Amino acid sequence: MTALLEVQDLRVAYGKIEAVKGISFTVNRGEVTTLIGTNGAGKTTTLRTLSGLLKPTAGSITFDGQALTTVPAHKIVALGLAHSPEGRHIFPRMSIEENLLLGAFLRSDTDGIARDVDRAYGLFPILGERRKQAAGTLSGGEQQMLAMGRALMSRPKLLMLDEPSMGLSPLMMQKIMATIVELKADGTTILLVEQNAQAALSLSDRGYVMETGTIVLQGTGADLLHDESVRKAYLGED
Ligand code: ATP
Repeated sequence: MTALLEVQDLRVAYGKIEAVKGISFTVNRGEVTTLIGTNGAGKTTTLRTLSGLLKPTAGSITFDGQALTTVPAHKIVALGLAHSPEGRHIFPRMSIEENLLLGAFLRSDTDGIARDVDRAYGLFPILGERRKQAAGTLSGGEQQMLAMGRALMSRPKLLMLDEPSMGLSPLMMQKIMATIVELKADGTTILLVEQNAQAALSLSDRGYVMETGTIVLQGTGADLLHDESVRKAYLGED
């Protein structure tokens, strides 16, 4: 397994408050890697730093052999790292198709873009059926699908998903999880942040548990699913 992303001793602060306190982890090519952890553990901060939206105070990020910490956010997308953020951030007045096309803003291969729009409609048929409709009229789960579809439009080497199942019905959540499995089978490497530890770890090759800015536990998805402390803290067992 070769590493697509390597994070070493990463530290990130908001003013005087250090949210990420020296974490190290690896995302291997072709794998699904999950970060789980309680609210405020620093998971979103980590993804935003990988995307270049926040600058770390220390540490290194190596993506596909290249150091990232000084690269601006738009260039990071061009290098192949896409981020589907928490809270979705779709553009509600634009159509579904326009939202998808925004994800391809760095590309000029018209035929390839059209194929990838079709691929997104294949993954999420509801988006195709409503392609001309304002994105703000979609349900929460459908907006999540659109955010994932948009992130995929840059043809990323690494897709980062921040809490894709947040606020979704069990059925919608299953659909999102099944799509992650499908994308992995397609060769996409995925870094997932999830509150739903059971669902996320079940489909993950590796997982890391974050608590108050540090990584306290790591292992294969199966190892963590069976770990007693994980079961108590995240799977609601006594
Ligand atoms: P959640 O699951 O609740 O989204 P998280 O693990 O993603 O949590 P972060 O959102 O990364 O956690 O937050 C880590 C810490 O940084 C928290 O203590 C949070 O209050 C703090 N924090 C996050 N954003 C800011 C900000 N813009 N300014 C100051 N502090 C922040």
